[in-house]
Amino acid sequence: MGFSTDAIHVGQEPDPATGAIIVPIYQTSTFVQEELGKHKGYEYARTSNPTRAALERNLGRLEGGEFGLAFASGMAAINAVMTLFKPGDHIVAGHNLYGGTFRLFERLLKDTGLSFSYADTTDLATTERAFQPTTRLLYMETPTNPVMEITDIAQAAALAHRSNALLAVDNTFMSPYFQRPLALGADIVLHSTTKYLNGHSDGVGGAVIVKDAGLAERLKFIQNAAGAVLGPMDSWLVLRGVKTLAVRMRQHNENGLAVAKFLSEHPKVKKVHYPGLVSHPQHELAKKQMTGFGGMLSFETGSLENAKKVLKSVRLCSLAESLGGVETLISHPATMTHASVPPEQRQRLGITDGLVRISVGIEDVEDLIADLEQALERI
Ligand SMILES: *Cc1c(COP(=O)(O)O)cnc(C)c1O
Repeated sequence: MGFSTDAIHVGQEPDPATGAIIVPIYQTSTFVQEELGKHKGYEYARTSNPTRAALERNLGRLEGGEFGLAFASGMAAINAVMTLFKPGDHIVAGHNLYGGTFRLFERLLKDTGLSFSYADTTDLATTERAFQPTTRLLYMETPTNPVMEITDIAQAAALAHRSNALLAVDNTFMSPYFQRPLALGADIVLHSTTKYLNGHSDGVGGAVIVKDAGLAERLKFIQNAAGAVLGPMDSWLVLRGVKTLAVRMRQHNENGLAVAKFLSEHPKVKKVHYPGLVSHPQHELAKKQMTGFGGMLSFETGSLENAKKVLKSVRLCSLAESLGGVETLISHPATMTHASVPPEQRQRLGITDGLVRISVGIEDVEDLIADLEQALERI
């Protein structure tokens, strides 16, 4: 079946008890057993819950992995994956990860005996030099936030596997509609479902998808043992969101491209980072491994003062962290999402004081462009 058909139907057969076409929110902690050891497949809701199970089957299929696991947040999903590793294990990670991921690695997991090296994964020769005999995982995001750098997933998988390591890709920015890392050789896909999968800015959640049954078994054990599961109501919200993922992503992409083009032709804008622009240094690679470019972009206003003026003047775009919802959000990475990154490193990553990030929503794009146009006039 096609992507949209799967999104709408996998895991979502009519409810066997009532025929309800929508998977019910099974808001229950436990399940009554007929006699000792005889039950309908559910015993206790941390271990499994039918609403969460429906979402897990759905996301497993959409990422082409079959095995999906839903967690209480994107960070809980990432932490569960990291629990696969033991003291002494080494991880090579992208040099510009989501801030919360970097914080988890450096402020919590380092103290548990894991060690981390950071590399620019867009350059695989440099990345290879970061590998050690104890390296067990290559962990990366593509595109990166907010400068939209692309790493070749197939080549990164080959590199990891040559070194007997796994490749994990945080696919939050693209969603499985535009990019399926497992098909390109990755072993583990992670999501903050908070973003495009839910898509309506009304829930926090996370997911892990794998194709290897043994890995799925170990992650399922971790999910139950550590217990950071996604609740039934939040699972239901993501299930609802996913049904329109394809149409939303197509519109995010169309609007993203239109806004990126508008900005790239605007005299007050110095630079636009969007993989769909021919001027993007990795446009060809983006076309090769993604089937669209999404709704995330950033642009250079030249100074903190200019960025402030734009952010203060927008009326339709909302100044807020987060991304991937139907409404357009605008933010200032240097003082918001990347405030904890030291200034020199920010500079190296291209996260300047004048950089503004937009999560382009699915409003009428003429309205978004008009809003940005009047805001840029203030510079
Ligand atoms: C938001 C985000 C996360 C963290 O997810 P939460 O749901 O906020 O815990 C991880 N990775 C990326 C790329 C994100 O955008």
